[in-house]
Amino acid sequence: MPKDHEHHEHRELNCEEVMEQLFTYLDGELDENAQIVIDRHLEACRDCFSRVEFERRLKARLAELARVPAPERLRERVRTIIGRF
Ligand SMILES: [Zn+2]
Repeated sequence: MPKDHEHHEHRELNCEEVMEQLFTYLDGELDENAQIVIDRHLEACRDCFSRVEFERRLKARLAELARVPAPERLRERVRTIIGRF
């Protein structure tokens, strides 16, 4: 895999490191630099990008479902969402 040496101010992350910070990233709780480094990785890495998109949608969906009062229905629909992937 070719390395990009244009910008040395941000250390490059590998996929594992991106995944470790995924949820913090989605919560918007990373500092600006860490956020930029991950954004850059996501622009170059389709695997991580897909994973982040999946988690982002799931998170949005769960937030939406959390407003539905019936817990059984919630669990059912979460299973449906997860089963799709
Ligand atoms: Zn990656």
